[in-house]
Amino acid sequence: MDFLRPASWEEALAAKAEHPTAVPIAGGTDVMVEINFDHRRPEYLLDLNRVGDLYEWEVGEESVRLGASVPYTRIMEDLRAELPGLALASHTVASPQIRNRGGVGGNLGTASPAGDAHPALLAAGAEVEVESAARGSRLIPIDDFYTGVKRNALQPDELIRAVHIKKADGPQQYSKVGTRNAMVIAVCAFGLALHPGTRTVRTGIGSAAPTPVRARAAEEFLNAALEEGGFWDNGKIITPSVAKQFAELCSAACNPIDDVRGTASYRRHAVGVMARRTLTWTWESYRGTRNTSEGAA
Ligand SMILES: Cc1cc2nc3c(=O)[nH]c(=O)nc-3n(C[C@H](O)[C@H](O)[C@H](O)COP(=O)(O)OP(=O)(O)OC[C@H]3O[C@@H](n4cnc5c(N)ncnc54)[C@H](O)[C@@H]3O)c2cc1C
Repeated sequence: MDFLRPASWEEALAAKAEHPTAVPIAGGTDVMVEINFDHRRPEYLLDLNRVGDLYEWEVGEESVRLGASVPYTRIMEDLRAELPGLALASHTVASPQIRNRGGVGGNLGTASPAGDAHPALLAAGAEVEVESAARGSRLIPIDDFYTGVKRNALQPDELIRAVHIKKADGPQQYSKVGTRNAMVIAVCAFGLALHPGTRTVRTGIGSAAPTPVRARAAEEFLNAALEEGGFWDNGKIITPSVAKQFAELCSAACNPIDDVRGTASYRRHAVGVMARRTLTWTWESYRGTRNTSEGAA
C-alpha cells in the first residue's frame, strides 16, 4: 500500500486525479477500522492531514463553510450557536478521542445511513463543496448527496473540500436511539430544525432507510398546519393531534431493515417518538424566545 502525502489542496487534487482509486484518509476513524479488519486493502491511501484548509471554517452572513476535516470537538465547542443541530449530533458521536479526530467530511465520505451528521445536515439545509483537478468545484445539495447504502454522489477524482451549512435561524434538535448513551452507532436518529425566517421546518432521519432521508410529507403537513393556525405569529402550543400526525408521517417516511441493532418496526416507532419529542422541545424553545423578545419590547 502506497501512502500519498500532499501538502496542499492542489497537490491533493492532483494526486486524486492521478490515482482515482486512492482512498482519502482524514481522521481515519472509519478508514482504519476497515483496513484493520481487512475489509479493504487500497493500493493507495491519500493522507489529507497536511492540508490545513480542511481544518478551517468561516462564519458567513447566512451559512457556515465548514472545512471537511474540522473535528466534531471543534463543532461542539466553537459552532454551537451557528449550528446547534450539528453540535448536538456531534456530542453523540462515539467518544472524546474519536470526536477529536473524526469530522463531517469523513461522515459524508462513508455515507453510512447511521452517520450522525446526516440528519442534522438535512434538517439545517446544506451543500457539499467538492472539487476535482479536471473540472473544478461544484456544490451538491445535501438532498442529492446520498445515493445508496454507503454510496454518495462523489466522482472518483473528486474530494470533499467543505460543507456549507445554513446558520440556525431558529431552534434545532437532534435525538438518537442507541443501546447505551455513549460509543454507540445509532439504532435510529432524528434531526429537526425550525426555520422561522421562512416559516418552514426541516427534518432528517438516520439509520431508518437505505440512506439518510427527510420526512417530506411530514414537513409539508406541519408547514401547512403551522401556517393555517397562525402558530408562527401567535406562538401557541402545538396541538397534540398535529404533533401526533407529524410523528406518524415521520414514521411513514422510514424504510428500515431488521438488523442486529433493531427491528424495522422498532425503528419506525422510535422515529415517531423522536419526531414528537423534538417538535415539542424546539417549539417550546421558539415560544420562549418569542416571549422574551416580546417582554423586552
Ligand atoms: C469506535 C468508533 C465509534 C464510532 N462512533 C460513531 C458514531 O457514534 N456516530 C458516527 O456518525 N460515526 C461513528 N464512527 C465512525 C466515524 O468516527 C465517523 O464516520 C467520522 O465522521 C469519520 O470521520 P474521519 O475524518 O475519521 O473519516 P475517515 O475515516 O478518514 O474517512 C471516512 C471516509 O470518508 C472518506 N473521506 C474522508 N475525507 C474525505 C474528503 N475530504 N474527501 C473525500 N472523501 C473523504 C474516506 O476515504 C473514507 O471513505 C465511529 C468510529 C469508531 C472507530
